[in-house]
Amino acid sequence: KLYNQVQDLKGNIRVYCRVRPFLSGKSSNLSTVDHIEEGNITINIPSKNGKGCKSFTFNKVFGQSATQAEVFSDMQPLIRSVLDGYNVCIFAYGQTGSGKTYTMVGPKELTEKNQGVNYRALGDLFMLAEQRKDAFRYDVAVQMIEIYNEQVRDLLVTDGSLNVPDANLMHVSSTSDVIDLMNLGQSNRAVGATALNDRSSRSHSCLTVHVQGRDLTTGTVLRGCMHLVDLAGSERVNKSEVTGDRLKEAQHINKSLSALGDVISSLSQRNPHVPYRNSKLTQLLQDSLGGQAKTLMFVHISPEPDALAETISTLKFAERVA
Ligand code: ADP
Ligand code: MG
Repeated sequence: KLYNQVQDLKGNIRVYCRVRPFLSGKSSNLSTVDHIEEGNITINIPSKNGKGCKSFTFNKVFGQSATQAEVFSDMQPLIRSVLDGYNVCIFAYGQTGSGKTYTMVGPKELTEKNQGVNYRALGDLFMLAEQRKDAFRYDVAVQMIEIYNEQVRDLLVTDGSLNVPDANLMHVSSTSDVIDLMNLGQSNRAVGATALNDRSSRSHSCLTVHVQGRDLTTGTVLRGCMHLVDLAGSERVNKSEVTGDRLKEAQHINKSLSALGDVISSLSQRNPHVPYRNSKLTQLLQDSLGGQAKTLMFVHISPEPDALAETISTLKFAERVA
């Protein structure tokens, strides 16, 4: 219960930002990030008369040297509240290459140290369930879906139709069960990618964890669920450069990311009308956005100067929903 008190003080919507380090071989002298101070990040904006700066304020900012363990430990109270019956949504937002998948899943070569939030969250839930086993019986099940061009695809189906709206619910009882399922989901995601190159950056993927806990003395059942969403790349495409399918994809992404931004900003402004129905993603997550549910918008930025325009646009999006 302590976890929830800590969270309630912060409110139900919070916004974090993470800066990816320079990828190997590149100089770090040219970072667009001037400095980070607690929840503030200051970006260098070159102008005609020399140097300009702009600062943005969030609940938390992680610099280039933040480890996966540090990032997770900050999110841990939020994730643990699922065991107390809360619904939680965590969104990774940012342009392609900014580190969304790194935060949520990890790098290609996964080790225990560089595992992302998805693995750590499940591992932590199983550990807590074990610690509480004399008082509670927990049942954990996961779903994994992808939304591409406003269509939902179940990533945990190995054969047959891949367009299943009511995605398979897989019961899991250990971290290794989860790793197996996530591998299955990733490989099903890759199946789509052969037809359209790098589809993963143009679709939203969502790992949903359902937790049901029964109090062994009172018989009371608590249900909570957590959606861990790796969003499609937020980069704007130049309409004069893309046509056909690529333009259609870009328009779907644009529409769904702005619909998500609209939902979160109307929730944070306590606006009575929340426009859930404007995208597939917000429709699917409606029960976990708003009310008692907790939301974390985790935006990612790249430090390179050539990403400056996207960096500013990402930070503005984040500022709007905060
Ligand atoms: P996105 O999912 O936003 O397109 P990725 O997570 O794939 O971006 O990151 C792009 C590249 O940068 C990958 O090679 C990834 O391993 C690396 N990377 C991203 N964030 C970090 C980080 N915090 N530390 C080390 N490498 C990172
Ligand atoms: Mg990615």
